[in-house]
Amino acid sequence: MVSINVDNTIEKLESMNAKKILLQLPDGLKPHVFDYFTRLSEKFSVIISSDPFYGACDVGNMEVYKDVDCIVQLGHSIIPNINYPKPVIFEEYRNEKKITIDDSVFEMLKEKGHKTIGLVSSIQYVERMYDVREKLEKMGFRALIGRQDRRMKYPGQVLGCNFSAAHSISQEADCFVVVSTGKFHGIGVQLSTEKDVFILDLNEMRLVPMQDETDRFLKRRYARLSRSLDARKFCVVVDTKVGQYRKKLAETVAKQVRDAGKQAVLVTANDIRPSDYENMMCDAVIFTGCPRVPIDEQDKFAMPILTPPEFQSLFGIKKPGRYVMDEIVSVDPQF
Ligand code: SF4
Repeated sequence: MVSINVDNTIEKLESMNAKKILLQLPDGLKPHVFDYFTRLSEKFSVIISSDPFYGACDVGNMEVYKDVDCIVQLGHSIIPNINYPKPVIFEEYRNEKKITIDDSVFEMLKEKGHKTIGLVSSIQYVERMYDVREKLEKMGFRALIGRQDRRMKYPGQVLGCNFSAAHSISQEADCFVVVSTGKFHGIGVQLSTEKDVFILDLNEMRLVPMQDETDRFLKRRYARLSRSLDARKFCVVVDTKVGQYRKKLAETVAKQVRDAGKQAVLVTANDIRPSDYENMMCDAVIFTGCPRVPIDEQDKFAMPILTPPEFQSLFGIKKPGRYVMDEIVSVDPQF
């Protein structure tokens, strides 16, 4: 069960003396929009954002929020090192279902000889991760929860753009257990630590090894990337969302493209639309915003869409000797 405490939100808004608020809901909560609107409208003037958003990196665009006192975003946790242009209240999703895990779920870790287990989780399962640690310790494993960097709020928390909590313990951990439902986090932790990774699916109470999934991911990715080797015209895109804005990186990458004897134009976008790049007749796109976009959205694009590390590795600018996930540590100040 996932819950958001609206009374809590109202209390915070009152203490801030907010009158006009913008409410952002992820798609999963939009069916409840009338309930939230009715509750909050008893005390505040409320406008709802219908735009999709996927994280605390996105608090909408200036045109929408310039007329409100505060933004209320449901579902995500604050990204502490973002300089938000307005006060934002983040009401986090929490999975409150108490769990009982049978020893057999973790047998696979024993069979593989793992003794020290690194634990990470998505925001919904941060508390459940501590239950899992207790269970593993009772079973005789050593269980570690890593320290996060300045982009993340909680120890052990990972986002699709940041695996710092896994990096901090990767020397010590024999493998990682990711308490989450999404495969992307598992693939990200595996590629960024090069350790065995298992997703702990608490709905089905099973441990899913990520190796095959990661191998398939790499195969698909390299097939796509190889198509950009002959590209001559690149669009290097800066996403204007407050937590994805990496203009300095885009400028560096555009220069690297030109140094490689290709053409590069710098492009800005709030929502990256495939048709725009077809109109610009570019051969490849390098996207410096959310690292998930080039991977999750590739099929919508007629041309290859690369992350900055993919481009740098493919053209020999950096030679890491392995696939490097793009991660965001900090963003350029916009305001
Ligand atoms: Fe999520 Fe992407 Fe934003 Fe990171 S940049 S918080 S992965 S939407």
